[in-house]
Amino acid sequence: MRIVVTITVALLLVVMSLPLILVSVARLSRAQTPHAAISTSAPPDQVPEVGRPPEQPSGRERITSRMRTVRDLVRQQFGVPHGVGCFRENDRIPGGGRGEHHLGRACDFMLSKGGARPSAGQQARGDAIAAWLQANAHRLGISYIIWKQRIWSPGRAREGWRPMSDRGGVTENHFDHVHVTVD
Ligand SMILES: [Zn+2]
Repeated sequence: MRIVVTITVALLLVVMSLPLILVSVARLSRAQTPHAAISTSAPPDQVPEVGRPPEQPSGRERITSRMRTVRDLVRQQFGVPHGVGCFRENDRIPGGGRGEHHLGRACDFMLSKGGARPSAGQQARGDAIAAWLQANAHRLGISYIIWKQRIWSPGRAREGWRPMSDRGGVTENHFDHVHVTVD
């Protein structure tokens, strides 16, 4: 009997305090509104660019996972019968500096054999690879592409393909391979 009375009293107390609870909840949600407005008011151009930090190479091939993904996708879609060269310790650039091959963040998609100038068909394959890399640059994390003595990067996409200085022969000037560096 005492239990029943206790439960009844408790229930009564809850019912009586319901309006108070409802008012408190309403006040709380009203108080949160200004915060919500602030968090959505920053226009996209004021949001800092965090970017993509470079990855470390791994595995037997000594390339990054981003580079591995890009390489495999190009191979699957275009086939690269003359091979793909990615990691190499010595990647000195004629005229000075180093590329990203020794960092595992660059690959060369070969279009002909042994430094020969590619045929029209082989060049068409290179054009297709380069165009596909350009079109998917942001999605794939492409830093820049070099093809036929020209360089293209997503950060300067408005300028299109930019001419490069003469580095020497067919290979040095990227007429026989598409070079890609990833972030
Ligand atoms: Zn290269």
